[in-house]
Amino acid sequence: MNARTAGTESPPNKFSVGLTGGIGSGKSTVADLFRACGATVIDSDQISHQLTQPAGTAIPAIRASFGADYINDRGALDRERMRQRVFSDSAAKQQLEAILHPLIRAEMLAQAAAHAAPYLLLVVPLLLETANYRGLVQRVLVVDCAEKRQIEHTMQRSKLNAQEVHAIMAHQLSRTERLCHADDVIHNDGSIDDLRAPVKQLHRRYLSLASGNI
Ligand code: ADP
Repeated sequence: MNARTAGTESPPNKFSVGLTGGIGSGKSTVADLFRACGATVIDSDQISHQLTQPAGTAIPAIRASFGADYINDRGALDRERMRQRVFSDSAAKQQLEAILHPLIRAEMLAQAAAHAAPYLLLVVPLLLETANYRGLVQRVLVVDCAEKRQIEHTMQRSKLNAQEVHAIMAHQLSRTERLCHADDVIHNDGSIDDLRAPVKQLHRRYLSLASGNI
């Protein structure tokens, strides 16, 4: 499927950069630093979370497809239960993604239209793994770091163990494949402070690209 046919809406009418990278590579950290520079960030994970909160737009379809067992007492998605299900059942994973991706994409477009920003940074972990979002961006920024660090970062932030992180990474592109698609790369192999300078430099570059000065 062509990325531009994945949804019915047109892509954002603004210069947009897709920020991606493997789990735990530092996407959210880098996105926060772009925000601190004044960039407008639209985060697909945050949107996915909102869609699956109580009364979230995705809840009725999830209930209809998976049953009420996957909705908790508050009316939100039971994340842990769903995580376990899709881990071992690829058809269920596809079914969940078929519900979520179009809703996430539509919400990203709605947010993009609402922002009067010079450029947009769209944070999409699976930008290169799925066809749903690639047509929304003109440029791909990859956050890259050693797999060992990806695992450490992820375990530091979540309850996942190393084996579970490995299993998630196995469903994602390899570092080499991902880097082949990158227009820009931020190497996250030092401290968080070390990320500030490359982020600032890219922010300036994106402002120039958006204004047509490059
Ligand atoms: P992602 O969004 O790619 O999954 P995050 O940005 O959420 O990754 O980073 C995962 C965890 O690793 C967070 O707790 C973050 O603070 C930490 N982290 C990211 N980069 C670094 C770094 N360079 N040094 C130390 N901790 C980091």
